[in-house]
Amino acid sequence: MTAISTGKVNIVGGGIAGLIAAVELGRSGVAVELFESAADLGGRARTKAADGFFLNQGPHALYNGGALKRALDRLGIAYAGGRGMARSRKAIWKGRLHSLPVDGKSLMLSSLFGLRDKVVFARVFQRLVKGERAEGSFTDWLDAQTFSPVVRSSLEALGRLSAYANGSDHVSASAMLVQIRMALGGTLYLDHGWVTFIAGLAQAAREAGVTVNVGARVERVETDAHGSRVVLADGRVGVGNATILAVGPHHAAALASDVGSLQAEAREAKAVRANTLDLALKRFPEGAGEFALGIDGPFYLSLHSGSAKLAPEGGAVVHIAKYLPASEGPSRDAIAELEAIADLVMPGWRPLEVMRQELRGMTVANGMPRWDRARPGVALADAPGLFIAGDWVGAEGMIADCAAASGVEAASAVHAWLKAGAVKSAA
Ligand SMILES: Cc1cc2nc3c(=O)[nH]c(=O)nc-3n(C[C@H](O)[C@H](O)[C@H](O)COP(=O)(O)OP(=O)(O)OC[C@H]3O[C@@H](n4cnc5c(N)ncnc54)[C@H](O)[C@@H]3O)c2cc1C
Repeated sequence: MTAISTGKVNIVGGGIAGLIAAVELGRSGVAVELFESAADLGGRARTKAADGFFLNQGPHALYNGGALKRALDRLGIAYAGGRGMARSRKAIWKGRLHSLPVDGKSLMLSSLFGLRDKVVFARVFQRLVKGERAEGSFTDWLDAQTFSPVVRSSLEALGRLSAYANGSDHVSASAMLVQIRMALGGTLYLDHGWVTFIAGLAQAAREAGVTVNVGARVERVETDAHGSRVVLADGRVGVGNATILAVGPHHAAALASDVGSLQAEAREAKAVRANTLDLALKRFPEGAGEFALGIDGPFYLSLHSGSAKLAPEGGAVVHIAKYLPASEGPSRDAIAELEAIADLVMPGWRPLEVMRQELRGMTVANGMPRWDRARPGVALADAPGLFIAGDWVGAEGMIADCAAASGVEAASAVHAWLKAGAVKSAA
């Protein structure tokens, strides 16, 4: 972006989307003020640190080919980590563990498939890698094939793992196939958690002159021909030429209650949710599985400290999750269900527990790419000067990659708006 020296922009929300937009705009010479309601920046990318352990909010992996990594690298934000590669990987099928087919050798050796299914799975895997295309929902794509139940369930599990979404019937097949390909291209687990790049983004924002306010809840946003104002819960008013709402669709709709397009988005929003059990262990139980994927149930377990510095010497951090179907809320036995997965995959873990974090019904993504409806763009036709960003906005990517891509795009749209002088003076 070329530098401009006029204009002031308010950003509501200090998660990935808001912080990336702030750095982009700050570095292009725009005066930016960011408002985050929580005491800390980062939103769902925050990390809890205690006694040498680092727990993200559920399992977090950075996609090598995704928009978040691309943005961090371009902005020069440092992070370190290791490729998410466990030594012993399991598939859970009908209550039993099988080795998870991840390459030709493990496919041949796995007891998950019979010989015929091994051939079918190898062929479909090749098609996925080579760029299989499809229309409609991911369920439509699965229905159009003639897979046995275990092959079909394995592909659904691969979709859940790649996209974090348990909703094959509303996720776009083409987006899902792209996401699976991207996941196969590798992910990173980050040393000391995702908070490291959040801290890097916050520092970069401040160095670029952004005023960062935490503990600052915005209650209302008003835009008109003269500019854009954010009204805070404590009565303060932030005056600017434009505002980016880098919050979820329901918060955005509540903040700008007279903007019809946002009300429609909030009504249509289909969040993807998960229950997670994040465990800090004295040590990893001997002989336990380091990674497990539910084939007939939407479960995930992974030893993240096997690839990244997340635990003190000898300790371990393990994330266990259930990808919730849209119809399922956080139930009373949510955590017991995850503990049962831990018992199956890593027996002997219970006496080794040092600390845990339980998250029920967490919003993983505010909006996945749907087959029947495009996600909204960053600019709102019915509210000039008001922009949106977050993991439910824009055409690119899923989960944090969508948050990052829309943050970059919103910054560029605001920049163009200011440059065009569409709003002459701040109110
Ligand atoms: C269990 C789990 C696992 C995940 N795993 C992965 C993964 O492996 N890979 C991946 O890419 N992504 C993953 N994600 C998704 C990723 O964490 C999110 O997509 C991303 O962090 C969203 O960023 P955001 O900026 O869009 O929203 P948020 O992080 O939600 O940020 C919005 C911010 O706005 C603030 N806010 C809201 N209302 C107001 C207000 N009125 N005034 C001021 N501030 C306000 C909030 O406090 C929040 O900090 C996972 C998420 C979860 C929960």
